Amino acid sequence: MKVTFLGATRTVTGSNFLVEACGKKFLVDCGMWQGKAELELQNAEEFEFNPNDIDFMLLTHAHIDHSGRIPKLYDQGFRNKIYAHKATCDLCALMLPDSGHIQEMENEWKNRKRKRKGESEIPPLYTAEEAARCLEIFEPVQYDEIVEITPDIHVRFNDAGHMLGSSIIELWTKEEGKETKTVFTGDLGNSDIPLLDSPTMIESADYLIMESTYGSRMHLRNDEKAELFLDIVSETLDNEGSVVIPSFAVGRTQEILYELNKLKETKDDQEFRRKYKTLMRSNVYVDSPLAISATEVFRENTNLFEEQIQEEIMKGDNPLEFPGLKFTQTADESKALNEDNTPSIIISASRYV
Ligand SMILES: [Zn+2]
Repeated sequence: MKVTFLGATRTVTGSNFLVEACGKKFLVDCGMWQGKAELELQNAEEFEFNPNDIDFMLLTHAHIDHSGRIPKLYDQGFRNKIYAHKATCDLCALMLPDSGHIQEMENEWKNRKRKRKGESEIPPLYTAEEAARCLEIFEPVQYDEIVEITPDIHVRFNDAGHMLGSSIIELWTKEEGKETKTVFTGDLGNSDIPLLDSPTMIESADYLIMESTYGSRMHLRNDEKAELFLDIVSETLDNEGSVVIPSFAVGRTQEILYELNKLKETKDDQEFRRKYKTLMRSNVYVDSPLAISATEVFRENTNLFEEQIQEEIMKGDNPLEFPGLKFTQTADESKALNEDNTPSIIISASRYV
């Protein structure tokens, strides 16, 4: 078996591994380069393999730095299957066309600049419409089931606890009678990420390929974060201000909604109650079309939430729903928030991740 690291090395985006084993060539992830301008230029470069030679692909999760070059792969002739968890397929159906839309807008802006300099126009990396086409080759799988891709190549997707549908992929390959197990972690969650289950413990591997983005950093515990969050929000609301929370559209927005809803159970001293009431009396706006659709996908996949939350949902308490929660559906509704002086919380999601 040969593994070539084509992305997410010395940087954290552009995840892309080429694996050659059992006479097959396949990819694990095909993400977009994101961040500095020079890095993003790499998205337009030729792949270091021929997309027509790739027999299949395994996708760890829907974040664009892991999935964002799939439309380009499809456009260059790749038509074989992309195995991904069902929720990843659902999220990619939103996120890839959204990414295409961003490419179109950014490209329009770049072309205006090029035109002024007398340079010729260039096409976007892909359009929203082109991105929608690649969805037909996605093959949804569930957690914990062994998928036989060929008699010699088996895989199993396990919950990585990083975002809805995120997967640690176990890969078994049999060559010359010898079986080798390789594990690709994809991005890994913490054990206390709101909403989601903890990452699955993988018992063994011959080779382990893992992300290490936050490997050397201590994170605050989530319950401490929630209290800090309540302090900041209530102080602003007490002073008649509005809180704008910039948030990634997919994942973080839903975690914030959950934290807002969950705070009520954590403590019962009077000051806390007062702050909580202030918070619950306020309007909470989610101001992003992508975050709205992604929240829908979360609501449709509650079977992936941690067990305790699933029980709460059964009792009728959905952590992604509460009285003050409002979604802005149109650009006009979004603009109207600028004119509104009522203290409120606005979760404004970036379209970029
Ligand atoms: Zn990720």
